[in-house]
Amino acid sequence: MNFRNTLQKSLIFDNLSHRFDHPTASEIYDDLKEQGVGIATIYRNLNLLVDEGKVIKIIDDKHISHFDIVMNKHCHFVCKNCGEIIDISPKMIFRDDMKMKVDYNNIVLSGICEKCLKKGK
Ligand SMILES: [Zn+2]
Ligand SMILES: [Zn+2]
Repeated sequence: MNFRNTLQKSLIFDNLSHRFDHPTASEIYDDLKEQGVGIATIYRNLNLLVDEGKVIKIIDDKHISHFDIVMNKHCHFVCKNCGEIIDISPKMIFRDDMKMKVDYNNIVLSGICEKCLKKGK
């Protein structure tokens, strides 16, 4: 991998690590296009980072991929109404004495978020 590729990969990783939403590849592209990073490069590097276990891919119920950095193990909840993606601690849904090793990062729950419930949707 040449220097330019490494640089682009770290730009993408830095962008993800400085935000708390769960952006799509094109939202990351909006941030990085001024630095000359193309959309295909972003897709390729995101997939590499997912393979390396540094980034989580979350697929929402419209089959759109969102990305998040792996800081601590967490699951995701996707609201079917507003599309918001919320981080969920595994402790909220799993017992501590479970005897199996769960891949928390791959778990996506779906339903209606608190905000939408309050609005009476
Ligand atoms: Zn919602
Ligand atoms: Zn997350």
